[in-house]
Amino acid sequence: MIPLRCAGCGAGLEIDEGMKVFACAYCGISQQVERRGGTVSLKRLETVVNSVNLSTQRIASELALPRLERELQDVERERSRLLEAAQKEAKPGMGWVVVVCLAFVALGVYELFKWNLGWVSVWFILAYFSGSLLHQGPEVAKRINNTADAKARRIKEQLAAHRDNLDA
Ligand SMILES: [Zn+2]
Repeated sequence: MIPLRCAGCGAGLEIDEGMKVFACAYCGISQQVERRGGTVSLKRLETVVNSVNLSTQRIASELALPRLERELQDVERERSRLLEAAQKEAKPGMGWVVVVCLAFVALGVYELFKWNLGWVSVWFILAYFSGSLLHQGPEVAKRINNTADAKARRIKEQLAAHRDNLDA
């Protein structure tokens, strides 16, 4: 028999040599008997369970960190690949769009000098619409960046949560 104090209510308890887990006769709290070297102590079972959870969480976080860092690198690689592809695709057509747009402007100005206002508006409207094609390149890039940013943000949030776990 070893005399000990309850980890819950502090009552004096006597436990048998082989006991590992028991409930206090006074307050009913479950506790674990910890034997380290020559000393014996009691630990409330819920905190034992919590620390087990904590260590499995730590292990999960340690495994998750390198995986998430790889995922983050993949997102950035994918971003530059898509941007490069979009740029390549956009370049050959855009020179012609500029030429056509300027031609419409020139025609508009020409008709303006002749005071054919109906034609002036037609050419300027066409110039406006062909000119708006020039914005599509940046639009595509913006969409690619937005998607990549959103993915990266989610991964970074997870990374931060796991780092907090490890710091705790
Ligand atoms: Zn007790």
